[in-house]
Amino acid sequence: MGNKVTDDQPRVYFDCNKCPAYCCSVYERVQVTKRDITRLAKHFVVSFETARRRYTKLHAGERVLRRVADEIFPETCMFLDQKKRACTIYHARPAVCREYPDRSRCSYYDLLQFERRQQDDPNVIPLVQITFREVKAKTVNDENGSERVWEWEPEKKR
Ligand code: SF4
Ligand code: SF4
Repeated sequence: MGNKVTDDQPRVYFDCNKCPAYCCSVYERVQVTKRDITRLAKHFVVSFETARRRYTKLHAGERVLRRVADEIFPETCMFLDQKKRACTIYHARPAVCREYPDRSRCSYYDLLQFERRQQDDPNVIPLVQITFREVKAKTVNDENGSERVWEWEPEKKR
């Protein structure tokens, strides 16, 4: 029998220990604040400036964690243990990592479970890439009437 879940316990339907760490890998940007850099500096016992230079970079005007080539995805966070697929700075990780996914389900975990069932393979890892586009809605009128269509803006580097 599993653990009894009571109403004052948050229900969580994903298990990061069974996931290849999509969230650490598919996003180009893991945003860091001054507070995050201060925490990193304390963790590694280095100055704020050293932590900022060594562990972060500017990406489209935003300060983010540095990334490295990965064994599964094209890139991942420099702090991911690529064998264990776990964070090596868990107690010093940035606020965005602490908050993610900020709900009871994780879409990447759902996708992983879905594909493992579909492929009938408990070890398969679906590779996904996420990108963001701006879209504009407009109404097109022709002989068939009016239709709402979406116009894609050119891809933006984030
Ligand atoms: S993608 Fe979801 S399940 Fe996987 S490590 Fe991140 S939060 Fe956990
Ligand atoms: S700091 Fe840790 S939790 Fe955050 S992206 Fe990097 S490996 Fe993942």
